[in-house]
Amino acid sequence: MKLRDIAIGANASIYLRMDFKKIKGVFYPRTEQEIIDAIATAHDGGYSVTPKGGGSGLSGACTGGNRERVMISTLRMREVLMISKDQGYADVQPGATPDEINALLEPIGMKFWVAPSSRDIASAAGSLSTDGGGNDTWVNGTMRDNTIRAKMVLYDGRHLTVDWNGVTSDDSELEAELNKKGMTISDVASAHGTLGFITELRVKIKPFPSEKLLGGLAHFEDCNAMGRALSELIKRKSPIRYGETVAAAHEDVREGLDLPLLILQFPEDFASELKDILDYSNLDSEGLAKMKDVRIKLPKRNPNEGLQIALFEGFGYHGNGLLKMQDAIDEINSLLIGHGLALFARYGHAPSKWYLGDNSPAYGVILHSREIMPEDKTSREMFDTITDIVAKCNELGITPKPEHKWPFSDEEKKTRIKELRKVMGTGFNDFILDPDGAYDTLSSMV
Ligand SMILES: Cc1cc2nc3c(=O)[nH]c(=O)nc-3n(C[C@H](O)[C@H](O)[C@H](O)COP(=O)(O)OP(=O)(O)OC[C@H]3O[C@@H](n4cnc5c(N)ncnc54)[C@H](O)[C@@H]3O)c2cc1C
Repeated sequence: MKLRDIAIGANASIYLRMDFKKIKGVFYPRTEQEIIDAIATAHDGGYSVTPKGGGSGLSGACTGGNRERVMISTLRMREVLMISKDQGYADVQPGATPDEINALLEPIGMKFWVAPSSRDIASAAGSLSTDGGGNDTWVNGTMRDNTIRAKMVLYDGRHLTVDWNGVTSDDSELEAELNKKGMTISDVASAHGTLGFITELRVKIKPFPSEKLLGGLAHFEDCNAMGRALSELIKRKSPIRYGETVAAAHEDVREGLDLPLLILQFPEDFASELKDILDYSNLDSEGLAKMKDVRIKLPKRNPNEGLQIALFEGFGYHGNGLLKMQDAIDEINSLLIGHGLALFARYGHAPSKWYLGDNSPAYGVILHSREIMPEDKTSREMFDTITDIVAKCNELGITPKPEHKWPFSDEEKKTRIKELRKVMGTGFNDFILDPDGAYDTLSSMV
């Protein structure tokens, strides 16, 4: 490992070929004032700022996209500043992770309920910027649902606080203009650091519910049948506490399972209503733990020959799309096979919740996908496959990358961010909104 990698930190995305010479500064502020000073340095040099948390974002946004830029990391700002058990909130610095927040909350019987698999490294500000969530978003929502307010600093040093009612700022003109545009937390959510630097968040905390949960395992003829059952669960706002599917898996790792299947955990008093919706067999606690283990280990395994990769990792089937889930999976599979990939696995959160670019909630299933890495494919071909999948998703009414987020292709979100940046100013992660296309930048980084 080289010194520059340590200084710049992690990047979990597939965009790895970075031109480090274009990084004009790396800052690790400890206070809001140090963030303001770091932004002022970038501003004076005319460089774009890339805010960075844990670097676990998978869209490539936290790389800054190979433009001349200054990186400002929140790795040294991870404190929980205040907890109000009575009022159900915690004030946290931008770099605090869910695990760090929960380590302080657990002794008082409270929890911050945003739990991505990356909860040991994903920062609060990074999670809001990607609107992340865990496999329990169906019950607990995404990061935006769990954020009460966010404080931000802009490229020119102005401050503002955004909550669900609007914006407050010591700059009354800025406040009035942003409120005229109806800016709320929804706009900061999933903005991928393009609006400003988040310096502090107030997040919701809730006690653990006391309810007895049961486990169940349901098998389906195909994903259309599973989609119909999920559609009904969603329509009835079913109290599913854990829901995961293994929709397809390579024969080397299938372990004789009859797929597709749903693993469910639900309150005892929902058991009979669930029987009306789908056929399931009961799982005792040992059986449930075993099925959860099969599901969690699936993406960590490889076929007997070759290696599997998360080339795209995320298809959100919702609305009427759930009723034709298998047909859409078949179309995506053909596209991937046409691009020379062999299929490895489809699995993920079901039912789940995420947000579309216009901020409306979508309810459905988020299927993660893994393929077997072809040996002879160039980086450019890999990237072209990704953009073809995005086009196919848009054609089929599927949300591309609902959880790991692909901001570059979401026209509605981009239009809204651009509108807000006319008031707030630019200077943060500008490459994402560049008319020449983040695609060109990113394709050179695969
Ligand atoms: C193994 C693994 C498992 C994962 N599992 C999940 C999962 O279950 N659910 C899920 O939703 N995601 C998951 N992710 C994706 C990832 O963890 C999330 O996107 C995460 O929320 C990003 O947080 P971060 O601190 O790492 O942000 P980074 O990757 O550092 O940055 C992400 C974006 O946020 C912006 N940003 C960061 N800090 C600030 C700030 N202070 N102000 C303004 N903008 C900022 C960056 O510029 C960038 O655009 C997973 C990733 C990995 C590697």
